[in-house]
Amino acid sequence: MELGLKGKVAIVAASSQGIGRAAAEAFAAEGCRVAMCARNERTLALAADRIRKQHSAEVFDRTLDVTDAAAVRQFVEAVVTKFGAADICVTNAGGPPAKGFLAASVEDWHKAVEASFMSTVHFAREVIPHMQRRRWGRIITITSITTKQPVADLVLSNAVRGAVVGLVKSLANEFGKDGILVNNVGPGFTATDRLKELAKSRSTASGTSEREIFDSWAAEAPLRRLGEPREVADTIVWLASDRASYVTGQTVLVDGGMYKGL
Ligand code: NAD
Repeated sequence: MELGLKGKVAIVAASSQGIGRAAAEAFAAEGCRVAMCARNERTLALAADRIRKQHSAEVFDRTLDVTDAAAVRQFVEAVVTKFGAADICVTNAGGPPAKGFLAASVEDWHKAVEASFMSTVHFAREVIPHMQRRRWGRIITITSITTKQPVADLVLSNAVRGAVVGLVKSLANEFGKDGILVNNVGPGFTATDRLKELAKSRSTASGTSEREIFDSWAAEAPLRRLGEPREVADTIVWLASDRASYVTGQTVLVDGGMYKGL
């Protein structure tokens, strides 16, 4: 299927590993020029290099923290200077730690808002004017199944991700007239380092083995397995493509059917 993505410029935030990295790789495989960023210089450089080599892709990478508004502005400016556009922007960051309400400190709440919500604001503020100029753009946020259904011990995610969905819907309404489509992707349990961290913290708290925790997560999905980062990435690429040209303001879950609502 022709996705119409060849030559487009795709920014993928927080993309040195996990779902972000898989998305960067999937865009490169479709012939996009890709801009990646993350905090860890070495992991990011390795990921960018691999994508360059595997897909003969043009990849720009910069070490930064997505909660730093000035760094995000300079990154987007550098991408536009290098590639001439910012057509697609996937916002992403590490997820908040697993905690119950009384265990979460005020600092935890501020950090969760900064990483999960404000990072999206920073990227949207920078890329939208460039997208408006070309009358074409795609913003895709990576959040979680928690936007639809709370997950135990993830009170920070359960609460803060909803704000991202409100932002997605608002941006979709405000900028649809400019040809900018804004959607949200909510992964279910997906086999990345983030999930290993969650398993470890649950295992410590409950005394259950990490293996049993992974098995119980897999059992929650009708497909009876965890998702692969590539499967989330494929949905992100579809949403960015011409094949999704009448889809905006939506949350698409990639959760193996784990969400139990209608
Ligand atoms: P991950 O921990 O494997 O990767 C996170 C990436 O973000 C890494 O590249 C890391 O370097 C980067 N990063 C983290 N904080 C950053 C910051 N402040 N600035 C720049 N880069 C930063 O995580 P993942 O599993 O790929 O998850 C991606 C998103 O999807 C997270 O928000 C996570 O909560 C969410 N999610 C994941 C799952 C899952 O099961 N893996 C489920 C639901 C939601």
